Amino acid sequence: MNILVVLEDNQGSLHRLSREAVAGAQKLGGSVTALAIGKNAGSLASELSSYELEEILTVEHDLLSSYSADGYSEVVTQVIQSKSPKTIVVGHTYQTRDFMPRVSAKLDIPFIPDIISLSDEGFVKQVLNAKLNASVSSESDQMILSFQSAAFNDEEMITGSSTITTFDVELDVSSVRSTSEEPFQEAAGDVDLENAELLVSVGRGIEKEENVHLAFDLAEVIGAEVSASRPVVDSGWVDSFRQVGSSGHNVAPKLYFSLGVSGAIQHVVGMKGSKNIIAINKDPEAPIFELSDYAIVGDVLEIVPKLIEALKN
Ligand SMILES: Cc1cc2nc3c(=O)[nH]c(=O)nc-3n(C[C@H](O)[C@H](O)[C@H](O)COP(=O)(O)OP(=O)(O)OC[C@H]3O[C@@H](n4cnc5c(N)ncnc54)[C@H](O)[C@@H]3O)c2cc1C
Repeated sequence: MNILVVLEDNQGSLHRLSREAVAGAQKLGGSVTALAIGKNAGSLASELSSYELEEILTVEHDLLSSYSADGYSEVVTQVIQSKSPKTIVVGHTYQTRDFMPRVSAKLDIPFIPDIISLSDEGFVKQVLNAKLNASVSSESDQMILSFQSAAFNDEEMITGSSTITTFDVELDVSSVRSTSEEPFQEAAGDVDLENAELLVSVGRGIEKEENVHLAFDLAEVIGAEVSASRPVVDSGWVDSFRQVGSSGHNVAPKLYFSLGVSGAIQHVVGMKGSKNIIAINKDPEAPIFELSDYAIVGDVLEIVPKLIEALKN
């Protein structure tokens, strides 16, 4: 085995960042094995069975019925010790940030987290609050990598065949001492921005709280969720769980429709993986236009009501 991708269970389905991690691992080249852990391991493995993987390992155990950092780090440690992969790859999620440093410390394998792309020199990471990119490499025989959201496109996963194999682990209550509570969920009615296919994103160009309904009205007409830039959240105009950016969510929808968002780097790092970007901004020099597929120079307060009317008709 050359590369081991550790998968993440997102309420019974494969986490989007795990799919992207598989796409990234396939880009690295060499044989790729995936590892699914926990009570849904079988169904996670089935989701990948039509992709080009050397093998998909599944690990189930009474002590793994819910996530725990000590349980998962112990399983990954045992798989690495048994299979000796050169590279271990995960999506850069809260869960992997929780248990992967333990694996790194236990096995003394360097961990290069939060990679945004590959370069000839190594792995590209953003530094200094995303103002600069740095290339990082390791001379160690083994390394652990985590890929940032949208660093790779899961639609580029190579299809093929794979076999699903059970991997036996030795676990006991002395190695799994913690139990997790139910995964954190936002309050009822809140939205899953990271898996939304369509987003209408509202920025400070909406000018005042009374105008924010325009974003929600447009979202309703096209069946989208609403996200926002930080100043809109900080002003209390929308809930904080809608924030996109370096201190908010990483999103990669099929359509990101931005209304009066300037395109500051701290916002862009959270949405640059969007497949199509439409932006309305009255400033033709707004940085958001540099990454937009469609740029509309104009006043959101004039354009959006007309657009909603036209779409309704
Ligand atoms: C440590 C740190 C972390 C941060 N994290 C985040 C983060 O996670 N997410 C985030 O979004 N920001 C974050 N920021 C803030 C970020 O730097 C920007 O300040 C912010 O993204 C700007 O938001 P905005 O584009 O809505 O507002 P502005 O920069 O004020 O831009 C408003 C835009 O609207 C346009 N406009 C104005 N009126 C209209 C109109 N009537 N019609 C059309 N266009 C109009 C303007 O031309 C302008 O381009 C962070 C900053 C720091 C320092």
